[in-house]
Parts: sequence; C-alpha cells; structure tokens
Amino acid sequence: MNIHEYQGKAILTSFGAPVSEGQPALSVEEAMTAAKALPGPVYVVKSQIHAGGRGKGKFKELPADAKGGVRLAKSIEEVAVYAREMLGNTLVTAQTGPAGKQVNRLYIEDGCDIEREFYLSMLVDRETSRVAFVVSTAGGMDIEKVAHDTPDKIMTFSVDPATGVMAHHGRAVARALGLQGNLAKQAEKLAAQLYRAFIGTDMAMLEINPLVVTKQGELRCLDAKISFDSNALYRHAELIELRDLTEEDGKEIEASKSDLNYIALEGTIGCMVNGAGLAMATMDIIKLYGASPANFLDVGGGATKEKVAAAFKIITSDPNVQGILVNIFGGIMRCDVVAEGVVAAVREVGLAVPLVVRLEGTNVELGKKVIRESGLNVVSADDLDDAAQKIVRATRKEAA
Ligand code: GDP
Ligand code: MG
Repeated sequence: MNIHEYQGKAILTSFGAPVSEGQPALSVEEAMTAAKALPGPVYVVKSQIHAGGRGKGKFKELPADAKGGVRLAKSIEEVAVYAREMLGNTLVTAQTGPAGKQVNRLYIEDGCDIEREFYLSMLVDRETSRVAFVVSTAGGMDIEKVAHDTPDKIMTFSVDPATGVMAHHGRAVARALGLQGNLAKQAEKLAAQLYRAFIGTDMAMLEINPLVVTKQGELRCLDAKISFDSNALYRHAELIELRDLTEEDGKEIEASKSDLNYIALEGTIGCMVNGAGLAMATMDIIKLYGASPANFLDVGGGATKEKVAAAFKIITSDPNVQGILVNIFGGIMRCDVVAEGVVAAVREVGLAVPLVVRLEGTNVELGKKVIRESGLNVVSADDLDDAAQKIVRATRKEAA
C-alpha cells in the first residue's frame, strides 16, 4: 500500500526524523491558510499523487512551458496562483504513465535553502533477507539514471535483524554521503530513526530523494515516498486509514474486496488464471503471439463460483479488453466450479468480446459440459499454446 508524501512525512516526524513544516490543502483557500501559518518567505507547493517525478512532471491542461508539480512560491499570492493551476488538473510524470494522475490535494511546505542534495532509500533486500540502506551523493535527480551510468556512486549495506540498527550503520551512511562533524552526527541519528520507522510500521520501501543539507547546516528529508507491506497491514489499523482509494485502480479495489490477486495492465487480452506461475506463463505466451495482456489475475487455489464470477466481471468492465482468455489447470480448483462461475458472470453482464477457455485437470469433463450446455459463444482450447493463438487470432478478427 502506498501513501502520500504528506502522510509519510507525518510518520517520519513521529519517529523524530527532520522534515520541513507543512500542511495539506484541498482548495486554494486552504493552501493560502496553510502558507500563512508558515514562516516564509519561500513556500513549496507540492502536488500529492502516488507517483514520483512530480517536479519534472507536466500538467496536461497547462501550456508545455508551465512549471511542474512541485513549485517554489515567493509569496502567499504565488501560492494561490500555483494552487489554482495544480488542483483538479492532471499531472503526467515519468511514473504515472501517459494518462497521468489528477491532483486533488496539495502539500504546502516551508521552503528551505538547499546546499546539497542526497539520495537515501531503504528496502527489504530479498537476497540477504535484511533491510538495506541505499545511499548516494547524487540525489535530487533520476536515481535510475545514476544507477545505470555511474553505479559506483551508489552505496548499499544491510542491517542484521538480530542486532537491529547500530552506531556503525549510521557512520556508514555518513561516510557514504561524505559528511563530517556535526552533519555526520545528524546522519547517524537519522539512520537510526529511519530504521525504527521502517521496522515499526512494516514498510516495504522508504525513499527520501532528496535528503538535503540546508544552508543552515541541517540534514532534512525533503521528499518521502513510502509503501507498506500489505501482508502486515492487519497489525496497523492506523495505517490502513491512510489508504487513498482515489489513487488506486477501481478494478484493483474491486478485486481486493473479493480477495483476488489482480493487477491492471495496458494490453487488450483479459486473463483469468489460477496460480501466479501459470498466470505469468499465460501473459508470456500472449506476448509471444504478438498481443498484450490487459491484466494479471490469479483467482487462487480454492476459488468459489462467486469469486470466479467476480473476477470475470472485473475483466469485462475494462474498456481496453478486446478478448478474454480463461486458463485453468484444476488441482484443488475444480474445472466445473470455474465453468459455473464464468457462465453465471456472462449471464449477468453479457459478453461483448471473444472468449477462449482452456480447462485441464480436476473435473475437466464436467467443466466442459457446463460450458457446452450453457449455449454461450465460447471457443474451447486444448492446451495453453492453442488457447493463446486462438484468442490472439479472435481479437485480430474483431479489430479488422
Ligand atoms: P518529486 O519530483 O516527485 O521527487 O518531488 P520532490 O519532493 O523531490 O521535489 C522536487 C524537487 O523540488 C526537489 O528535488 C528539490 O530540488 C525541489 N524542492 C523541494 N522542496 C524544496 C525546498 O524546500 N526548497 C528548494 N529550494 N527546493 C525544493
Ligand atoms: Mg523526490
């Protein structure tokens, strides 16, 4: 689960980490009120969307030379002008995809004088099974580009969970950032605070880009991108409250209600599969035959007819879907249950696109019978290869 920058900064503050003073705002008036409460004379007006690269982003509705989604304002009037330009408009960044995201909320922050910009992130390193720090002196800009062009500028080290964060980890952060004296002390303290925040809230990722040194000689987290481990959310009721459903894909929200593993993608072939591995293979083979999957969907091992029907409805509600491929290898999952779910869903919402079904495994004959006797216009396939070719061909025919 992802959260907004302003929410992330509130969490960092609660663990003692240094951030600028600021307040969220939903309207131009609120933005002005928030700015008036800050010391000034410089304010930062920041679009709150669940995507990075806002500073370099562009608003669809504004001229191409307009400034991005993070702007420095030199007066309360300027805060109002920027707030008016941003609110309700669509910000496109390197991370939003071409559709962009509507800005419904701003964060108004006290502007600080930056002397140096660093990069610091933390994540769960699956290779070492530890929480790792990733730090670089090349902060502020595209870290992916830094990693690609100058990988030696990125330092990584992990923390042994048995000891937790220790003074030497902090010193390693300070050393990697080339900090000495008082600033090194601040970095050591910050490393410990961030580690505690990470563990304490079960984060999956924490990215501070930039972490800055101000002209006043203070270390400060100027940006905060946080995502939590969804499997641990059950023990953080207060974090679940931070979820912003308007930032999430409507189909993914529906899927999570039915406990389905669904991820929306950009292609045209809707997939309903049981098992994550088979779902990946199905997506691959659709690609092999020249089309792209519209989603990843694993209905799980012991899905009920209702769950299958819910999954099918989510797929058909996607306007990009030009054809559907159901690929089930029944083990615990029974083919007849899948067939009944599909038939029930089609009866309810109709079927406007070609549907190819490949069933194999437990109760396969019964499943095929259910589909045959339903009278639905379903193309059946013998194996995965056959199924993928059939659905790709069928969508081509539709398009032509
Ligand atoms: P992002 O583009 O989505 O990563 O948003 P950031 O929060 O990182 O802001 C983008 C850039 O705005 C930062 O890299 C900074 O260079 C700049 N910025 C943000 N806050 C301040 C501030 O208080 N003062 C100054 N001078 N620049 C800021
Ligand atoms: Mg940033």
